[in-house]
Amino acid sequence: MNAGRLTLAVQKSGRLAEGGFDLLKQSGVKLAYARDALMRRAENVPLDLMLIRDDDIPSFVASGSCGCGIVGENVLAEAAARSPRVAGLEIVQRLGFAKCTLKLAAPLEGPVQSVADLEGRAIATSYPALTAKFLAERGITAEIVEMGGSVEVAPRMKIADAICDLVSTGATLEANGLAAFETVLESEAVLIANREALNGGGATLELLVERFKGVIASRQ
Ligand code: ATP
Ligand code: ZN
Repeated sequence: MNAGRLTLAVQKSGRLAEGGFDLLKQSGVKLAYARDALMRRAENVPLDLMLIRDDDIPSFVASGSCGCGIVGENVLAEAAARSPRVAGLEIVQRLGFAKCTLKLAAPLEGPVQSVADLEGRAIATSYPALTAKFLAERGITAEIVEMGGSVEVAPRMKIADAICDLVSTGATLEANGLAAFETVLESEAVLIANREALNGGGATLELLVERFKGVIASRQ
């Protein structure tokens, strides 16, 4: 890390990247042109962006490679359920975009219509730790089938009886004949930071948070 400069991890491309770059732009952060695919330097603030996959952001911030990062609460919570170091990170500011919900869903007319019906069943998800935690808290024993994507096809493929997946409009569920019956987590983009950034590199982080707050307030 460059002395005196704060490093912010941002998704390289995708929904969090779009919202994150908009927020930075509206906050008056000017990015220098660069060929470097990993790092982008801000011209007018002592800030460098590190562009990575959103799933990698919690561990990059926890390890200290980046002082802070913009990530979905869903990804943060899944990583925190696996790693105590990530669980120790602080949410500095809720950012109000990339809103979505992690939900349990199952085929419309099938045998699973409620959480209790999950006992002894198989659930496909890209969020195995959050799903396991949710089930354990309710005393349900079920098999968790981890999938990297396209989780909504699992019931049709007979891979699982239910899914635990991100939902925003519900169109994907509907298109696959699925209905949601329980919310596991409400999520939005958040700014996270490690101890070092909160204590040591405080000034830039404070400046960033103040500007983010201003932009978020102006949007309401
Ligand atoms: P990568 O892992 O390559 O960075 P991804 O496929 O995980 O990308 P996106 O689909 O852009 O990335 O999702 C990133 C985050 O955006 C999710 O983790 C979640 O917090 C949020 N998100 C996902 N789906 C939606 C949605 N339909 N509406 C709003 N926000 C969403
Ligand atoms: Zn991802």
